[in-house]
Amino acid sequence: MKVENHIDHESFFQEQLKTWTLARQNYEGLETVQLRVLQLRGCDIAVQFNPARMVSTGASIDKKVIAERPCFLCGKNRPAEQTGVPLLGHYELLVNPFPILPRHFTLASLIHEPQSIRASYVDMMRMAGLLPSLFLFYNGPRCGASAPDHLHFQAGSRGIVPLERDFKSSDTTSGISELRGYLVRGWVIQAATPEESGHLFSSLYETMPIPEGETEPMMNLLAWYATEAQHFVTIVIPRRKHRPLCYSAEGEEKCLVSPGALDMGGLIITPRAEDFGRMTPELAQQILSEVGL
Ligand SMILES: [Zn+2]
Repeated sequence: MKVENHIDHESFFQEQLKTWTLARQNYEGLETVQLRVLQLRGCDIAVQFNPARMVSTGASIDKKVIAERPCFLCGKNRPAEQTGVPLLGHYELLVNPFPILPRHFTLASLIHEPQSIRASYVDMMRMAGLLPSLFLFYNGPRCGASAPDHLHFQAGSRGIVPLERDFKSSDTTSGISELRGYLVRGWVIQAATPEESGHLFSSLYETMPIPEGETEPMMNLLAWYATEAQHFVTIVIPRRKHRPLCYSAEGEEKCLVSPGALDMGGLIITPRAEDFGRMTPELAQQILSEVGL
């Protein structure tokens, strides 16, 4: 499939950094961010010390708190400096001012509607096709999304998040296969078009349980357009829990990690120095196994 009309996200990114001081400072700060590599069952995973992410990691997901706060993805509540690039007529590409990756965007719906993957999955694939030098990711409403009330995806630089960086397609035929050799269970969807990927995703979605009180099966997605193989790749990581026990523990047991798609993909974000320092392969495995399958 030939992908037309790629979005010039780099020019947009540079424009935003020129005029938006907070974003510029946070991207500059990311250049000196501390990183540790841990080896875990044959996988190289990374831990990032990122204090600016406390806003997201510490975010309340209480329905009442969310209902009462001004939604930061709604146009009317955004900083004056923040502008957007229209996507598919229904979304806007925005620079994420609290980056984890050197290029980190939010792809937000133009309207305030709940985070929901079923009806928006094909859109996600289409946007992956428009942004082939980035990968896209999705956090379910209680799987790392800090704005579960406003439909959005994120996109970031490729080649950094271990699961995406080290992913080797076993073959290039369309279909669903099990994710092999990784730390948590998952599935890989490969397809030639967004629509075909959507059909495969729907069949997988049907098999996933919706826990009581949830609006959809708990999951994180990482997706990209593989330019050479000319197909769309999606990694589906099912979740059983929003946050690990150590998130709300007290004292020495406490470790403030609130896993989203990037953490599940092997880039664990620790906003507190003490958690960064004490992260071991065993603790990382414990956190991922507890919230994944
Ligand atoms: Zn909103």
